[in-house]
Amino acid sequence: MKKLNLYFFIFLLILACSKSDDSGAEIEIIEEEIEQIFSCVSYDKQLDPQNTNQDDLMQYWYKFVDDVKCTRGGPDYGERNPSPNIFFEYRTVAQIASGVTPDHIAYSTFSGYCNDSAVNVGVLYNEWTEKNLLQRLWIMYHEFGHDVYKYEHSTDRADIMFPASTRGDININDFIEAKDRMFKRSFPGIKYIPCPS
Ligand SMILES: [Zn+2]
Repeated sequence: MKKLNLYFFIFLLILACSKSDDSGAEIEIIEEEIEQIFSCVSYDKQLDPQNTNQDDLMQYWYKFVDDVKCTRGGPDYGERNPSPNIFFEYRTVAQIASGVTPDHIAYSTFSGYCNDSAVNVGVLYNEWTEKNLLQRLWIMYHEFGHDVYKYEHSTDRADIMFPASTRGDININDFIEAKDRMFKRSFPGIKYIPCPS
């Protein structure tokens, strides 16, 4: 605790010095623009230029399929899952049995993650409408992580498979780095959902 106070004090001193050096000049705030790291698909304001409806859940699936194909060269999950079932759920969290918590506003099901040719993902509509595009992408990729890759949850907040899929502080680069690790099947503590063989 003593150490902490000392650091704080030094920090204050430095601040004071730099202020007098400025001789009253206004402090210039430099806003650093984050340069987006490379991704082979775009996650711009609209996922699909032809479709302005961000509530169209299939857009997130198509984006994911394209993303896997161009990031990793395949597999083509669109071909493997010819009729994905991705739907809004209008029940409340309390009404849906297990596996859904308020931090985890969507869910995948046994019939999806234990079937390589089926995708079955429900999204809680009320919670969904409060999220921005990046959060929605994070949520949907998380569910596809369960459904397509059969991933269990990760304990690292930086991973898409971390259970609190609705972090408010994510930025586009966090997302791109996390989805690249997810596609490469390379994040620490990776675990798979056991399915009957
Ligand atoms: Zn999950």
